[in-house]
Amino acid sequence: MKIEGEFLGGGHEVGRLGIYLKCDGARLLFDYGMTATAPPLYPKEAPPIDRMFLTHSHLDHCGMIPWLTARYDIDVVATAMAREVAILLMEDSIKVGQSEGYPEPYDVNDVKIAKRRFREIDFGETMDIGRYQIMAHPAGHIPGATMFELRGRETTLVTGDIHTIDTRLVKGAKPVRCDNLIMEATYSGRNHADRKDTERAFLHKIDEVLDRDGRVIIAAFAVGRTQEILLLLKNHRREFWLDGMGRKVSKIYSSMPEFLLSGKSFRQAANRAKVVRSAHGRTRAARSDIVVTTSGMLDGGPVIDYIDQLKEDPKSAILLTGYQVEGSNGRMLLDQGVIDVKGATIKVNCDVKIFDFSAHAGHDQLLDFAKGCSPERIVLCHGDQRELLADDLRKEGFEVLLPRNGEKFGL
Ligand SMILES: [Zn+2]
Ligand SMILES: [Zn+2]
Repeated sequence: MKIEGEFLGGGHEVGRLGIYLKCDGARLLFDYGMTATAPPLYPKEAPPIDRMFLTHSHLDHCGMIPWLTARYDIDVVATAMAREVAILLMEDSIKVGQSEGYPEPYDVNDVKIAKRRFREIDFGETMDIGRYQIMAHPAGHIPGATMFELRGRETTLVTGDIHTIDTRLVKGAKPVRCDNLIMEATYSGRNHADRKDTERAFLHKIDEVLDRDGRVIIAAFAVGRTQEILLLLKNHRREFWLDGMGRKVSKIYSSMPEFLLSGKSFRQAANRAKVVRSAHGRTRAARSDIVVTTSGMLDGGPVIDYIDQLKEDPKSAILLTGYQVEGSNGRMLLDQGVIDVKGATIKVNCDVKIFDFSAHAGHDQLLDFAKGCSPERIVLCHGDQRELLADDLRKEGFEVLLPRNGEKFGL
């Protein structure tokens, strides 16, 4: 046995990922995040490590970095894009935490320390760590998302979150030959509709609502999804507004075009969006035809105010652009036509539709990706139905491991 591993979180669940790998004495941690539910869920406390690698900047991957860098004298290796967005999210999570009243795992000072500990890696670049070399590959998913290839006597690939199709924002991930594949399995057992069909249906729905004199509220996650929606709206005949956390992330994306499929195209889309910068702007946005805003699952953010103003109007629509987890406001809206606002249940009479713009590979895409990597063994994580994908992988002759959180495994 050369590598000993353990999921500190995110093994048999989606969220709060932490992959601890001990390789010939080098103690590495891939991602360290939190699940932003109420209350938030944290991974198991990380043991002392030598270095951390960040695959990308979603809170379930980066949210606990300040806790780590406050305790251990370590560098956090990430792409420049992952670093910039991670810093934004870490600072924001302190503000959100304070307003919701849950105890914070770290404070402003810890975030300041974390900001200084990032060490940049580019796609295609190699870095030495002990007897190993590590190389960064693009993971699709969102701009700057990275797969790390650990090269020693054997090669191990840690995918983080991946998507294998080209979206309007990023190119899809390509398989990397390896002996051990540690792969996410969020969509195990589920496939996506064709992206182009989803895009067409989404734009068609917007036109249908506008043609009957309704308004459109588009709820989108701040990191990645908001920007993909802006790209989709780029050539729309009506004006569209942008509000919420997605504004800051869009600014970062505009400043790092090298991480985007087309920096020029994104700049055009961002320039066309009218950005809410004041209370007056928000009033204008609320009276406009189309608003893109956070949060993506309707759990807080400006989207709540926009819905509150339109809730009696059956001609208007709320378009959800991603998976709505059980217990979220978005899920309640879909199932029962109501949302919870500060403890009060509010009935919403608008038209509500959900569109699958997932940034994760679906079941068959994960299967194809794994085959392309052609590993000896596969460890699945970041999924609550990993068995379905494991069954199909075993039929292909792969050895598959499904360690739960806290369970040690050997590679
Ligand atoms: Zn992600
Ligand atoms: Zn994730």
